Amino acid sequence: MVLAQLGGSISRAIQQMSNATIIDEKVLNECLNEITRALLQSDVQFKLVRDMQTNIKKIVNLDDLAAGHNKRRIIQQAIFNELCKMLDPGKPSFTPKKGKTSVIMFVGLQGSGKTTTCTKYAYYHQKKGWKPALVCADTFRAGAFDQLKQNATKAKIPFYGSYTESDPVRIAVEGVDRFKKENCDLIIVDTSGRHKQEAALFEEMRQVSEATKPDLVIFVMDSSIGQAAFDQAQAFKQSVAVGAVIVTKMDGHAKGGGALSAVAATKSPVIFIGTGEHMDEFEVFDVKPFVSRLLG
Ligand code: GDP
Repeated sequence: MVLAQLGGSISRAIQQMSNATIIDEKVLNECLNEITRALLQSDVQFKLVRDMQTNIKKIVNLDDLAAGHNKRRIIQQAIFNELCKMLDPGKPSFTPKKGKTSVIMFVGLQGSGKTTTCTKYAYYHQKKGWKPALVCADTFRAGAFDQLKQNATKAKIPFYGSYTESDPVRIAVEGVDRFKKENCDLIIVDTSGRHKQEAALFEEMRQVSEATKPDLVIFVMDSSIGQAAFDQAQAFKQSVAVGAVIVTKMDGHAKGGGALSAVAATKSPVIFIGTGEHMDEFEVFDVKPFVSRLLG
């Protein structure tokens, strides 16, 4: 189910409930079951959906609601809050400060949109007056450095990489050192992505992280990854200190559920979403407006 449809299904379920003359346990259960179905079809992990349902039932104790209270509003609010809670791990991610050097490391599977997202992130900050720089520590994929170089050149962002050096740790350290000397305030390190979770990828990522000591590790996830999102995100989190998530390809046939799962698995907030292939198709992610839109 694509994101827009998810929003439609949830609002329909709430609307149907609102149309009932009396809202009793049966009506509430029907509404929650409808929402559960919609979330599962959108690839939200089963456990998350089940927890949400239990929480809403706990909050909305129909018997306890004194007569005269607006039950619909209370239920609607509970659904809104639960969805927000699923997307909000409760603590903000590290936020870099303009003028003060921060090292940001990007991790994710190959094809997730990592390299594209590195440039988008750099470009976004550059437009706001930052001095970003890009380091290509992806020595695995042929063409990775060329791709980063091309993107960086187009956006006029300084970059560092090598066609000959095969040790990603070495490149990462050299790049970060160079840009620290050049007083860049946002040093972005792009790491290798592989087709699937490989022990070697995780070990390499861990080493790059240890050597460059990033202030923030951003996990980049393709929104179309589906039910695999939770396990993917968790596998990355177990190897490096993921502190934020960027969900890509939210244009097109994006399923929203993966984002919820990634937040749950990494206990980190989504900070941006990618909405297209172009450099400026990149949006700050805010939980409440997102959920409001979802609920129509
Ligand atoms: P990497 O292997 O993770 O570094 O992935 P790339 O950055 O090379 O991206 C893989 C493909 O996804 C490329 O064709 C990108 O143009 C495309 N891509 C990246 N982000 C987005 C996005 O937000 N929306 C769409 N539609 N395509 C994207």
